This record gives sequence, structure tokens and C-alpha cells, in this order.
Amino acid sequence: MREPPQKKVLYWCPRCNVPLLGQSCACGGEGERIPLLRPYDIRPAPGHDRELLSSLLLERFGTGDLPEIVLFNKTGGLDRNDLVIANGARFGWLSFHPCTRCWSFVPEQEALPFLLPRARAGIIDLETACREPGTISGRKIGGKKVAVRTGIADGPVIVRYKGMAGTGFLSGDSLKIRKIGPVHPREYPDPGWDVAVEMNRFHLKNLERHAIRFIRQHMSDRPRANVSFSGGKDSTVALELARRAGVTECYFIDTGMEFPETLSFAGEMGIPVRLSGRGLFNHIRERGLPAKDNRWCCELLKLLPVKMWLGKGGECVTIQGNRYYESFSRAGLPPVCENPFHPGQLNISPIRNWRALEVFLYIWWRKLAVNPLYEMGFERVGCWMCPAMLESEFELVKTIHPDLHRRWIAVLQEYAEKHGHPPEFIGCGLWRWENPPPKMQELCREKKGRPAKKS
Ligand code: SF4
Ligand SMILES: [Zn+2]
Repeated sequence: MREPPQKKVLYWCPRCNVPLLGQSCACGGEGERIPLLRPYDIRPAPGHDRELLSSLLLERFGTGDLPEIVLFNKTGGLDRNDLVIANGARFGWLSFHPCTRCWSFVPEQEALPFLLPRARAGIIDLETACREPGTISGRKIGGKKVAVRTGIADGPVIVRYKGMAGTGFLSGDSLKIRKIGPVHPREYPDPGWDVAVEMNRFHLKNLERHAIRFIRQHMSDRPRANVSFSGGKDSTVALELARRAGVTECYFIDTGMEFPETLSFAGEMGIPVRLSGRGLFNHIRERGLPAKDNRWCCELLKLLPVKMWLGKGGECVTIQGNRYYESFSRAGLPPVCENPFHPGQLNISPIRNWRALEVFLYIWWRKLAVNPLYEMGFERVGCWMCPAMLESEFELVKTIHPDLHRRWIAVLQEYAEKHGHPPEFIGCGLWRWENPPPKMQELCREKKGRPAKKS
């Protein structure tokens, strides 16, 4: 079967002001294209993140107003770095700095029709603030740096000039104008996610039908079939689809490092088999810290318990919730493949070509329960000290489970002391790599630390 190409754009119905899974809306309108950024995954902004965005807007621009429907397109960066999409436009950037531990929101020009009539602060009027008016003569002022006098703190600003509006960044008395042009303030319809589900119902039905057919095609390729449930949104959907296809067996691996919320959720979902992975702390002395580029923990905490369980039960088909769009490395995920660690286990991925948007709309359409960690601001659900987690998420662990956070910091401190690592090792989250990528090495140099490489 030929796989569909990755979806690199999002369609948006301008009439209903909702994102579309296909190119057209149930209202009969055609969607407008919004180009996405790699790895092209797009997800609804859950409760915590929407509140965060609203508070950053309030702090900087004096308005916390946001439409109900806000989406994030995660992209590469130092840590969390999401393109925010709202009102069918690139609304801005939400990012977290792993060293300063601060969040920032930088609006895009396309946010201004919504933001400009609401903003009460963070606005620079060039006609009064510019110290050298000669520098802004001429037609093209986007991209220019100008000296200004304002009482505004450093950061992103809205720039006004002769009936135009734009965005810029203020640093001391220097303003870098990013873009400026005519802006026409607009009022948009403000539907909730229930309307988005309704307008996409046809596509959701299709996605479900294809996924169930795919499971049924393969569920008899081995003597038995089961679902691997991790407690995350993707495996929640995989479980629902598998149950609808007639698969009843399911297992959940408790790595011993699961969030309490995930354990409770797995209980509520009535998962009959619980496999236990244990002993992470005992292995750190001998194997070092688990890292994004050396995930030995997976072998110990996940693969080993499954291997023992499969050894008793024999060959099987396992339905999993892996998706192309989750990360750069999953982009080549095959629909069906023999597990290289467990010969005899055939893994099938019925939602491999779904984005997080499809996953959440499906969950809401089918009214499925979902792990509460998403509402609390986590983008992915795994072990509470996972090196693949972002520093912004580790910051959330500190708030939600300070005891767990303290426990891991103590492990990191002991390790850093023993191996003579600089403060950035913990302070900027460098412990998460065995060989930090160039962007993190660069950050280290900026902070005059050593380009950390774990010993
Ligand atoms: S979720 Fe993270 S910490 Fe847990 S086993 Fe996988 S890579 Fe390791
Ligand atoms: Zn519509």
C-alpha cells in the first residue's frame, strides 16, 4: 500500500473560523491554506497552555483575549518553540528558554487584525517615539533598526506609523521593526472545539473507517492480537479503534517512573494486563544517565517486561499509537513491521498518518477520556523524568509533583558532582543529552560553560 504524503499545510474555514482535516468544510466553504513547519504536527492548545498564552498577552499587550480555538505547531528550537495558529493565521510564537526558565510570546503581523484593537500596552508610535526621524524616511521601513525613546521594557512590541501597524522587538533604546503595513481590524466568529468537531465529522468518520479496516486486515496475521497502551492520547485512540475492530487484549507497561495521573488513568481505562519495569535508579551508577541520544531506559523499563510477557504468550499482532508526525525520527514509520527486539511481535500503526489535531478531534468526537496531563500543559506523556521531555515540561513537574522533581534533581546533582559538570548541566537541562546538539553547545559557550559532553 502506498502511503499518503505528509500533510504540510493546514486548511481553515474562514466562514466558520475552524481548522479543517480536509480541504473543505461541512458548511460548504473551501478551506484556506496555512503552511506548517516541520515535523508538521499540529495540536489544539489545551487548558493550561491557553491560559499561559493569555497571561503572556495580558502582561505584554494589556489584553488577555484569545479566540477559543488556538492551535500549536511545534518546531525545533532550544526548548519549547511553537508556532501559534489562531483565526486562520500565523498568530505568533510561544517559546520557553531552558536557561532563563522564562516563557515568551512574540506576535506575528497576521495577529494584528485581532490584536491591534484590543492592545492597551506594548505599543510604540514611531511618529512620537523615534529619536532620529530621518532613519524612517523612505518607503521600506520593515527590517530597519531605529533609535526610540519609550518607557517600555525590552521585548516584542506593536509598532504604529502613519496609519500602518506592524511588529518589532525593543532592546534598550533600539527598536528592530520586523514588518509593517496596512492592518484592517476584524471581528472573527469565535466557535468552540465542539463546532470544529462537527464541521470535521465526515473526515473523522472516514479516518475511523480506514483505521478499523486496517486493523481487521492485520489482526489475524499472528495467533492473537493486543493493544499496547501507554496512557497517552495516541494509544487511547489506538485502543478505541482496536476495540471497535474486535481486539480485546491490551497491556500497559508501568515503568516505575509513571506520573500518578497516568497510573490512575490506566486504571480507569480498565487495562487488564500490567507489566512492570523497575530499577532505573540502580542502573544509573553503571550505565550513566538515560539520555535523548541513549535511551537505554527503554530497554530496561519497557522492552524487557514485554519480552518476558510475550515469552509466555507467544507470537502476536500489537496495535500501537505511533504516528509519523510525532518527531523527525518517526517520519519513516512503516505501517506494519516486525518488532526488532521481539521477533514474533508484529507491530501495526493504524493512526500513523494522523496529526495530533486528528487525534484530539477524534477523542472529543467519540467522547473518550484522556490523560489529564494534557490539560495541565504536557505535550507528551511518558516517565516523569524522561530525557525526551522538554525543560518547560520538567518545570511543570516541579509545580505539579515537587517531590518527584526533588528526587530527580538529587540524582542529577550527585551525578554532576561526580563527573564535574558545570551548573548548566542541570540549570539548562544539558543532562538530557549524551552529546548535546550544536544549538545547546552554542548556548553553553554563550554562558561561558564547557561544551558539555557526558563522561
Ligand atoms: S519514556 Fe523516556 S524515560 Fe521512560 S523509558 Fe522511554 S525514553 Fe526512558
Ligand atoms: Zn465552514
